[in-house]
Amino acid sequence: MSDIEFSRVTKTYPGGTTAVHDLSLHIESGSFTVFVGPSGCGKTTSMRMINRMEAPSSGTITVAGQDISRTSAVKLRLGIGYVIQNAGLLPHRTVLDNVATVPVLQGQSRREARKAALEVLDRVGLDRGLAQRYPAQLSGGQQQRVGVARALAADPPVLLMDEPFSAVDPVVRAELQNEMQRLQAELHKTIVFVTHDIDEAIKLGDRVAVFGPGGRLQQFDQPQRVLSQPATDFVAGFVGRDRGYRELSFRAADAVPVHDLPLITAEEVKGIRLSKGEWRLVVDDNRHPVGWIDTTGVEGVRAGHALADSIAAGGSLFPPDGDLRHALDSAISSPSEIGVAVDDSGAVRGGVLAKDVLEQLSRQRAAEDAERNRIFFEQEPA
Ligand code: ADP
Ligand code: MG
Repeated sequence: MSDIEFSRVTKTYPGGTTAVHDLSLHIESGSFTVFVGPSGCGKTTSMRMINRMEAPSSGTITVAGQDISRTSAVKLRLGIGYVIQNAGLLPHRTVLDNVATVPVLQGQSRREARKAALEVLDRVGLDRGLAQRYPAQLSGGQQQRVGVARALAADPPVLLMDEPFSAVDPVVRAELQNEMQRLQAELHKTIVFVTHDIDEAIKLGDRVAVFGPGGRLQQFDQPQRVLSQPATDFVAGFVGRDRGYRELSFRAADAVPVHDLPLITAEEVKGIRLSKGEWRLVVDDNRHPVGWIDTTGVEGVRAGHALADSIAAGGSLFPPDGDLRHALDSAISSPSEIGVAVDDSGAVRGGVLAKDVLEQLSRQRAAEDAERNRIFFEQEPA
């Protein structure tokens, strides 16, 4: 167990800036917690107090139940991996020796540590062929992976990550985020991750701590609750536009009805007569959608191309494991306003309608409200 607890922690720097104001927070062992907020609101300071790179002005922090001000900083840090922006690698050491640094400091032989380091490179998805390169010979994304590998090499139960992916381009960044999710599913570390990007926080966090001006914690909650029920105006503003739409991605779509669709083959298109506003879905021999067709013909063919393109890109169709956001998007992005539900092979299952998605949303919310009320009224009076 390596939970982390902040109790009434305040940090005022010499000079008078209060970076963190009266922070109380319990980070569960094995959870992925994200500290998010605009620049200067105390995220880094809060994180650096966990491994004693900064000391609180008042309040206490415990790791695994131990007051860290009473443990040796060296011993504490051996159990805490630390990853920063631009990876913080030693430029004059090879990738392999960078990753082996901490185990060697801990007394492992260089030979052993290098052997283990190769395995850590595999784990973070780096080619072993890169092991003898120097950091400057790697791309930004590869450097960040080395940074993660180095933090994991000594297998610490806690991992601190301060804006680790902020300096890489969006495509690589998304890959690194996916990699972190995969790693965490295997490793179950207690991870504290700092970012100023709310989308990154929502994607990665089991719990999200939103920090605001003056180092004041605004909300500490599950990501979908930050979207559906921002605790303060500050959080609502920080989360920004489309939060209702984004929240749909946390909602199951199993109960959204799939309606029968009128399907036709490409050969049948020529002879067909449709009335205004009528659509047909054209499918190939495997029931894979090819496109929509309507009375306007040319438009229909063009719409058909659009659907065929979006099949390749994975958009516009409603996939078998899709959530409510996928379901709504498939409907509203379709020229017929009917989303095309497909099975694992890509064959058509039927159509989904936006009104059904919205009805599901209302039902799920009503069920959640009922559950909240039940818990509230069953609570023992204090
Ligand atoms: P964030 O990581 O959210 O951007 P920081 O924790 O880095 O925020 O900073 C919070 C506040 O503390 C800022 O006003 C910053 O200028 C100030 N601060 C950070 N580090 C120091 C320091 N070493 N000395 C004085 N002030 C600092
Ligand atoms: Mg910071």
